[in-house]
Amino acid sequence: MSIVVMKFGGTSVADAEKIRAAARRAIRARKAGKQVVMVISAMGKTTDRLIELAHQVSDNPPKREMDQLLATGEQVTISLMAMALEKMGVPAISFTAGQVGLVTDDVHTKARIKHINVERIRRELDAGKVVIVAGFQGVTEDGTVTTLGRGGSNVTLVAIAASLGAECENYTDVDGVYTADPRIVPNARKIGRISYDEMLELSSLGASVLHNRAVEFAKKYNVPIHVRGSGSNRKGTLIVAETQDMERIVVSGAALKTDLAVITLRNVPDRPGLAARIFHTLAAAKIVVDDIIQTEITPKLATVSFTVDLVDLPDARKVCQQLCSKTRGMTAEFEQDLAKVSVAGVGMRVHTGVAERMFAALARAGINIRNITTSEIAISCIIAQEDGPKALRVVHDAFGLGRKRARSTKSTRKKTAKRRNTAKTTKVTKRARKS
Ligand code: ADP
Ligand code: ASP
Ligand code: MG
Repeated sequence: MSIVVMKFGGTSVADAEKIRAAARRAIRARKAGKQVVMVISAMGKTTDRLIELAHQVSDNPPKREMDQLLATGEQVTISLMAMALEKMGVPAISFTAGQVGLVTDDVHTKARIKHINVERIRRELDAGKVVIVAGFQGVTEDGTVTTLGRGGSNVTLVAIAASLGAECENYTDVDGVYTADPRIVPNARKIGRISYDEMLELSSLGASVLHNRAVEFAKKYNVPIHVRGSGSNRKGTLIVAETQDMERIVVSGAALKTDLAVITLRNVPDRPGLAARIFHTLAAAKIVVDDIIQTEITPKLATVSFTVDLVDLPDARKVCQQLCSKTRGMTAEFEQDLAKVSVAGVGMRVHTGVAERMFAALARAGINIRNITTSEIAISCIIAQEDGPKALRVVHDAFGLGRKRARSTKSTRKKTAKRRNTAKTTKVTKRARKS
């Protein structure tokens, strides 16, 4: 019997009725002959509320305790889901990450999965039950609770699907992956199929619909992810291995990442090993850095700048100030309220002119570019946070990514009327032929 793993995000289980709707969807899959595992997020904005609560009692809550707290959100929903299924006459059992042996490293608030023991899940599936697993959480080898980072239930989904060799469905509040966040870009278009690499870029560059580590996992184990709307039965977006025809499209999507900070280290002595020391120290403090740019100022001194997520700025500031105190003349500057707008597409490997088109669109909109970084299949510009949504819209338009809008100008009205007349004529002709 084939297995399907279905993940439901926070908005898709936000209240009792939505929990029942998700349960009904699982039952439909069972009736279609599949064994069903559900991966569930915390209800609605629960995780945000718990974070807020933590900050009401401490301005710098210990990360271990943060994980202990946040993991409770998912535990509420899994048991409610099991109750809903039982009430509908379907045997179900819920598990926390610890109970199904989802073991992670000990990097609290952004732990990585080391291994999963799916034997318990298999046993319960074979006993005819729907198995419900708490997303987002894990445990270390010694049983300490961890979490996988915001949006981490996606990672749980793919990790479990890969371990079980199952189909992988991600139910969310949009009916697929769009060419840009449809909340910011109203004319964004749903993508039918997208490659792992493009999705990985878009997720890393801010498309929060999927966690980038979930896509990484899916690529590594070649698990296609189907992103679908929990409120619709339509086909969503398939994230799959790249096929040759995908290169025909130059840019597949645009993304916006907000809440970034740029750190600039000046008067960095230009000698072997110093960059390694800077980034080793940051990595040891579990700070993820991106967009590193080094410029030589004199033959002996360089400027090094990089971005970090705003949440990591306090820790990064401490590390950089310590490094400066140990290196004569080196200074650190910290800027916040920054965002990053990007475009991605595997077609960039073979098409030219992408960067120019992106920069021109931003210039026309009067948006200043602070930094530029590129990868083989993406181009990103750091901009002021307040320009973010506008930048996403103009870049999206510049590559013609959106749905074609029906423009009601005088000439299109005339054309539509002409088409209608032609249609009438055609109908008449057909009828005339029949008779
Ligand atoms: P869930 O809680 O179901 O995991 P999320 O809120 O994490 O849902 O992710 C879904 C949201 O991702 C959408 O509501 C949408 O605003 C946002 N999003 C950002 N970029 C994209 C994109 N390219 N396509 C679709 N949704 C996107
Ligand atoms: N509940 C967690 C969050 O809000 C994990 C998730 O929903 O994927 O980030
Ligand atoms: Mg999510």
